[in-house]
Amino acid sequence: MSEIFDGDRDYIGPYLRFLADQMGLRDWFLYHGHSTPQDEGHSEVVGGTCTPEEGRKSATIRLRSDWPSWDEEKFRHICVHELLHCHFAPVRDPLSELESLIGVIMFAPTWAATTSAMEYCIDGIAYDWGRLLPTPAEWLERETTP
Ligand SMILES: [Zn+2]
Repeated sequence: MSEIFDGDRDYIGPYLRFLADQMGLRDWFLYHGHSTPQDEGHSEVVGGTCTPEEGRKSATIRLRSDWPSWDEEKFRHICVHELLHCHFAPVRDPLSELESLIGVIMFAPTWAATTSAMEYCIDGIAYDWGRLLPTPAEWLERETTP
């Protein structure tokens, strides 16, 4: 089985840029982080994370270290999912400010319910939107065909 981009992480940034441009995120700066979600304390099942910078249109996307072995559709799905978090940052950011106002007892369940609902929503959109976008191999072929 071949690996995504032959395991070369240098292709991830341009692929994310391409996807972002198709997804209404042309004005966002995107970074492909060198660290993994697991380096940031996430469980082994988390394939990717997106960390938008509060108040700015920039975000860092991190992928689990085994990304080269994923199938093409999974890789595309996770990239699209993480990019969609950029669209949801304006929802999440003000919510994160609530803790000091309502206290942790009220904030914890509010945060958990809202972020969980956001994840379901993002994943559903990513599933169908992703199928309309090229896989890494399809994108690479477009990029390298004169
Ligand atoms: Zn997510």
